[in-house]
Amino acid sequence: TAFTKIGLSDAIAFAVAEMGYNEPTPIQAQAIPVILEGKDVIGSAQTGTGKTAAFALPLMNRLGAHQKKTRCLVLEPTRELALQVEEAFQKYAKYTDLTVTVVYGGVGYGKQRDDLARGVDVIAATPGRLLDHLEQGTASLEGVEILVLDEVDRMLDMGFLPDVKRIIQRCPKVRQTLFFSATMPPELAQLSSWALSNPVEIKI
Ligand code: AMP
Repeated sequence: TAFTKIGLSDAIAFAVAEMGYNEPTPIQAQAIPVILEGKDVIGSAQTGTGKTAAFALPLMNRLGAHQKKTRCLVLEPTRELALQVEEAFQKYAKYTDLTVTVVYGGVGYGKQRDDLARGVDVIAATPGRLLDHLEQGTASLEGVEILVLDEVDRMLDMGFLPDVKRIIQRCPKVRQTLFFSATMPPELAQLSSWALSNPVEIKI
């Protein structure tokens, strides 16, 4: 398929074909090969462009088979976005053994704690609740290989930048970082130069 041609595994290509995706969107065509190579990315795509799959598909490809530790963290500004990303990952991961969970505030800790204790490959999270879990020792980012900062300008608007920085500091220094933001105010340019190394810029 068009998705295996750009380097994705049969299992992932099969899942997206089943969802009715025939061709990669422009951001997917640009981002997927770069992310598969392990490079850092700054992307300026908006929602609705296929941005979620543009990072989810290649990073799942890089994760390969399930391991009982969190190797990928996706930070989102809102519970709704975190849930959407988790749902998308679940669908894309249908023919793999990768596991995904979602962490957000305003609900009890019990289920999230149990899910995290099982050892999931990918966590989609909002910053505040993830920090709570880190402080309580119920989540660990020591094994993170890929960090996705999504909708970073919205995280800035919502006052999450200090939390986001604290979370980045809990991740290993050697990792792949993907940074998506519709706009790039100076605060974010600073954050991106601190958090990314030699990023490839992708604009849609
Ligand atoms: P997003 O920008 O990630 O919010 O995605 C917007 C919508 O486009 C979602 O409903 C996706 O399921 C859908 N989508 C993403 N990639 C493709 C594709 N290559 N072909 C068709 N639909 C897609």
